[in-house]
This record gives sequence, structure tokens and C-alpha cells, in this order.
Amino acid sequence: MLRMSTLFLRTLRDDPADAEVVSHRLLVRAGYVRRAAPGIYTWLPLGWQVLRNVERVVREEMDRAGAQEVHFPALLPREPYEATGRWTEYGDNLFRLQDRRGGDYLLGPTHEEMFTLLVKDLYSSYKDLPLSLYQIQNKYRDEARPRAGILRGREFVMKDSYSFDVDDAGLQASYDAHRVAYQRIFDRLGLDYVIVSAVSGAMGGSASEEFLAPTGSGEDTFVRCTSCDYAANTEAVRVPVPDALDPAATGPAHVEDTPGTPTIASLVELLQERFPRTGRAWTAADTLKNVVVMLVAPDGTRTPLVVGVPGDREVDLKRLEANVAPAEVEAFTEDDFTRHPALVRGYIGPRALGEESASGIRYLVDPRVVTGTAWVTGADEPGKHVIDLVAGRDFTPDGTVEAAEVREGDPCPVDGAPLTIARGIEIGHIFQLGRKYADALELKVLDQNGKQVVVTMGSYGVGVSRAVAAIAEQRADGIGLVWPREIAPAEVHIVATGKDDAVFSAAEELARELESRGLRTLLDDRRGVSPGVKFKDAELLGMPWIVVVGKGLADGVLEVRERATGEKHEVAVEGAAQAVL
Ligand code: ATP
Ligand code: MG
Ligand code: MG
Ligand code: MG
Repeated sequence: MLRMSTLFLRTLRDDPADAEVVSHRLLVRAGYVRRAAPGIYTWLPLGWQVLRNVERVVREEMDRAGAQEVHFPALLPREPYEATGRWTEYGDNLFRLQDRRGGDYLLGPTHEEMFTLLVKDLYSSYKDLPLSLYQIQNKYRDEARPRAGILRGREFVMKDSYSFDVDDAGLQASYDAHRVAYQRIFDRLGLDYVIVSAVSGAMGGSASEEFLAPTGSGEDTFVRCTSCDYAANTEAVRVPVPDALDPAATGPAHVEDTPGTPTIASLVELLQERFPRTGRAWTAADTLKNVVVMLVAPDGTRTPLVVGVPGDREVDLKRLEANVAPAEVEAFTEDDFTRHPALVRGYIGPRALGEESASGIRYLVDPRVVTGTAWVTGADEPGKHVIDLVAGRDFTPDGTVEAAEVREGDPCPVDGAPLTIARGIEIGHIFQLGRKYADALELKVLDQNGKQVVVTMGSYGVGVSRAVAAIAEQRADGIGLVWPREIAPAEVHIVATGKDDAVFSAAEELARELESRGLRTLLDDRRGVSPGVKFKDAELLGMPWIVVVGKGLADGVLEVRERATGEKHEVAVEGAAQAVL
């Protein structure tokens, strides 16, 4: 039983000055967490209770899925991370430090290397696999913008697990088991979530899905199809190459009535006007990665042309200079297009913009930011032609393109129905890593035929501390937090009002009875605190049930309120325990 009279808690009336989002504001005001440094938080008794409840749910479901819990240090040696390249790849996000002898260490941002080496240390046969290990541990990432309180911490709690299998079918089974475990976890945590296709990022590997909790304050944007079950992080959206690029298709209406014959000279002029460049780089480089210009001839022939790969990062600018020198654009002649009607077909994003230039040329430019690359077909000499495109690096040959920025209403890549777009918080991420780490660290086992095979791995993360904030974010209302029963620090918040000793002893008795029935209670037994303050605190703290013991006691009744709905009803003192069960 928790008691407000002694609980280490001070609720605040005002929002903390640095709090941008609801969960941050409320968790600080309700005394669940306290900032220790930017992106670094202390858990106070109520918050710690919630965090441990989330951990318990995660443990139960990981254990149910057959994973075994271990616990690694957070302070890790450099060498394994050096071997996989992540010591440098992680960049500024990695906390690096030295010991007294000058040896390099890091604070673990995620533990693929360490798990791989541990399994290598102990296992050597296919008979030992499959294996899934997990831990719940503090992780360290020097986030560029630690914001929103515990939603994005620099120290945070993650459940990370790793699966080890001999073959692809095994990996798929381990991945599926994790996916199911995650669904059970997030269902129990009372989170509304969507499973979306994702890109693998710094983890490497191939297939990956994210669990996103839809809320306006989320930092991820995802699309969902209005008619099928397709959902993807916009970073991972693959859109079909649109009909407009298919010479056989009719294309959109505005292409049909294109006047005039484009000339390369005027095209270059237009490009320069739209994307002025300094030296060898486009100045529009901070907003563009690829630019596709579609030339439209009077007979309707359309020639999409990739004219540049400017980017917002240094590396892209280098690529631009190496691969797409502006001089090459200028070097095009109309003749080039006559001789090679399908010189380069590139397209980025699901739709091009139709614009008419001063010289009457209709050109289509899609200046949207893309993380991906252009789809290219029909090039006579792939990799050698005008802009030196390289398959895999510069384009994907499967008829789809990546688009970092999709728009509401864009066609679904599966069934063409309109996509809706929304924001969400990444609460979990599952990856099929494949053999990247096992290769780098030489994790091999003997297979049935006595042959050494490289193990294939999966890696799976739940943002445990972030989930606390995500739950708060999704369920809080105008007056405070609202916890689901399983996660709440207490299930019932009993408020004793007035000065009457009888009220306090009745409240005390009720708390004991509820506890004896297995319910966790928080008793507001403070003397000399007004009912108004107690009710406000109860609403702010967010236990699922609030029971008021006060004036009604004389008539043998208590008031039971459901925090989420605000519904109140009176119950007989004797029936109070049942009412909240
Ligand atoms: P994000 O895109 O939000 O930066 P991530 O993709 O870098 O997250 P992963 O490497 O996939 O994160 O880690 C697994 C999980 O750990 C994430 O799904 C998220 O729930 C959680 N997580 C990651 N970074 C943080 C952080 N800075 N604070 C709290 N939780 C985090
Ligand atoms: Mg990150
Ligand atoms: Mg992410
Ligand atoms: Mg992720």
C-alpha cells in the first residue's frame, strides 16, 4: 500500500519550462520523473513503479516466447565495435570514454557485437540453435536533440534481444516469434500501435519492421493504405514507378497537351534558373537529392532525365561532383535523345510536378527530398552513360522507387488505393540482421554435414522507458495521466476527505481489504489537505480507479470514479471492493 502522507512525491502545479509534449509535462508535474541533465532522468517512486511494471510485462512475454534473459555490462570495450565498423559508423551518437591506461571504451547504444561474441564463445554446433537471448538494460546514445523527456533520452531503458539460427527459415521463425511477442507486449501495455515496414539504418540487415504508436508528437511519419493492410514508415515507402514513365501508357492529362519542342539549351537554362549552382554544386542541395526532369515532345514521347544527385549531406555533394558534374548536363544535345530515346528513365516520388516555363516548355520536375535513388531502365549502358548510375547504389531495378516524402492520397504500392499519412512514436523495432555481424565477428557453427556455416541473426528492440512516455502520451487527457490497470503504480487511489477520524479509518480499512484481494492501492491519508487538492492530485497521478471516502460515509456510501471516462457512481461501503474488481 502506498500512502500519500509519506510518499516521496511533490506534484507541481506548473508545467516545466522545457517540456514540449504532454507526456513530458505530465510525468514531471505528477512527480514520476525528474530531470538530472539534458536527456537524462531520475525515476521517482511512482515512475519507477510504472517502469518496472512495463519491464515485467516485457519479461513475461519474452520468457513466454522462449527467449532467455542475460545481462551485459553497459561499459564495453572498443574492439568488437571496431571489428564491425560501428565504432566510427555510430558517429557522434556514441559515448566514448577512456580508462586510466588510455584504453578505449564505449557506453553501449545497442549490443549486437557483444551477443554475437558471447554465443561464439560458448556454442559451436547447429544442435545448439535456435537460440534467443535478451536483456533489459540502460542504453546510451548521445542524441542530437534529446527532447520530449523520456521519449528520447540519452540514457534510456531498452529491451534488446538477439536470435541465432543456422538458416534463413530459422531466422524467419525467430523473427515471427518476436513479432507475436511484441504484439502481446504492446496489447498488454494498452498501446494503440501500427506495425510498419521500415528501413534498417545503422543496424544493417534486410527485413525490418517498426511498431509505431500513433500520436501527433511522434517523430516518425508513416503511411497506411485505406483499403489493404499495407503500412510503412515514410523512410521505407516504396512506390511503383508511375504510368507516366511508361512510354506505352497514356500518362496524365497535362502531359498530353504539352506545347513546343524542348531544346537542351533551354532545359539547362531552366535548370539554372530553378536550381542555381555555385561552383560544381547546386545551391538547392540542402533540399534536393535527385532531380528528375521529364522532357515531353509534341508527339507525346516522354523522356525522363536524371539531371543531378544533389543532397543535404557532404557525402551526397561528393557524389554529385563525382557523378553528376553540371558540365555533363550542359553537354547534352538533342541528338543524344534522338539516338537514345530511353537514355535514362528516372523517377523519384509518385508524382511529378507539371510546370510551364517562360519559354513555353512544359517540364516536369519533382524536387522532393528522397532518401533513395532513381529507378532506371532502358539505359543502353547502365553504369556508363551520362550520369554514371550504378545499380543498387543509384537505382533499384525492381520497378519501384523509395520516396522519403509521400503525400496524403498517394497510391498504395500494393493495391493503388489512397494512402493516409500520420505520425507515431517508435516503440519497437525488429530486424532480420542476416549474417552481417556473424560474418564480421566470425560466428560459425558446424551444420548437419560437419561443415562450418555462418550463423544468421535477428535483433529486436523495445523502448521500455519510451513506452512509459508513449502510454502517457496516448492516454493522458486535459487533467492528467491515465494508466492502464496493469501498468499503473496502483490500481485504486483512495481519497479520504474531511477531518473526521471515522473517514480516515474507513479509508484505511478499505485499502487493506482491497490489498488483501490482490489490488494495489494508493491511499491519500493526508490530514489538513483540502479535498480539492486531493482530487486534483488523484486526477493528475492517473490511477485507473479513484474511490472517495467522505461525507457519504454517514449514509454508508462511497463514490467510485473511473479515471479514464470520468464516470462516477455511489456504492455501498460493503460493496466497494467488488465495484473496482
Ligand atoms: P529513433 O528512430 O527514435 O531514434 P532508433 O530507430 O534509433 O529510434 P533502435 O536502434 O531501433 O532505435 O532501438 C530500439 C528501440 O529503442 C526503439 O524502437 C525505441 O523504442 C528505443 N529507443 C531508441 N532510441 C531511444 C532514445 N533515445 N530514448 C528512448 N528510447 C529509445
Ligand atoms: Mg535513433
Ligand atoms: Mg528509428
Ligand atoms: Mg529503430
